[in-house]
Amino acid sequence: SEYEEPQQSRRADVTYDDIGGMSHTIDQLREMVELPLRYPELFQRLGVDPPKGVLLHGPPGTGKTRLARAVANESAAEFFLINGPEIMGSAYGESEQRLRSVFEEAAKAAPSIVFIDEIDSIAPKRDRVQGEAEKRLVAQLLTLMDGLEARANLVVIAATNRPDAIDEALRRPGRFDREIIIGVPDERGRKEILGIHTRGMPLGDKVDLNELARTTYGFVGADLAALTREAAIEAVRRIMPRLNLEEGTIPPEVLDDLSVTREDFME
Ligand code: ATP
Repeated sequence: SEYEEPQQSRRADVTYDDIGGMSHTIDQLREMVELPLRYPELFQRLGVDPPKGVLLHGPPGTGKTRLARAVANESAAEFFLINGPEIMGSAYGESEQRLRSVFEEAAKAAPSIVFIDEIDSIAPKRDRVQGEAEKRLVAQLLTLMDGLEARANLVVIAATNRPDAIDEALRRPGRFDREIIIGVPDERGRKEILGIHTRGMPLGDKVDLNELARTTYGFVGADLAALTREAAIEAVRRIMPRLNLEEGTIPPEVLDDLSVTREDFME
């Protein structure tokens, strides 16, 4: 989709400030993931094993990937992304090999976070799976999770929008034994998200983020990001006639006047 972020940018650059309407979720993840990655000695001292796997579930576009990147960045951990459907599409035997090599690389680069997007496509309930290849991939993932040492400084975060479609074996202790539900943002969350995506934008006086948040019921983060992008494009369309297309230059006063107006958002 048009929101895909680059495949394996090793060090993520998003921070918790780039995620709106999720302060409680961020607190949970900090405790489960950031603290153990940053201060492994705390947990060692207490004799408790931090989680190896955390499952995020929520509808598409709610910011699960962005959240995982932010946690990696804020934990000073390397970020590895595995896209479920894409890895499933690899040739016979190659999917397991790719899964293994990502885990190997991540272990070498630790502290690391391996993020598995759309895990339901890799690990659907085994009784619903027809092919041998799929069964072997689920088994491979389980083996990799079990093989991780409890204090390996490597956390696997997986995302799905169909938690009940996942093989139950994945949720056993020592695997994905923590779950966080990511919901559709409420009005306050929408306002925060709109604030983030208009942060660098010159806005017209009449733009009212409260009003926008109120009138976008049901929008998830990806929808709100798209809305602000569209509004910016409207603003560009409006000033097009004032550009000097022959010379290919933008008169400075045109740039000075450029702002995204309330109408641009309503288009
Ligand atoms: P999918 O399940 O479809 O992969 P996702 O839940 O992983 O979706 P992201 O890919 O993280 O969602 O979000 C897509 C884009 O939407 C982000 O790059 C960001 O621009 C925007 N977005 C989504 N949620 C938020 C949020 N809570 N705060 C700020 N931006 C958000």
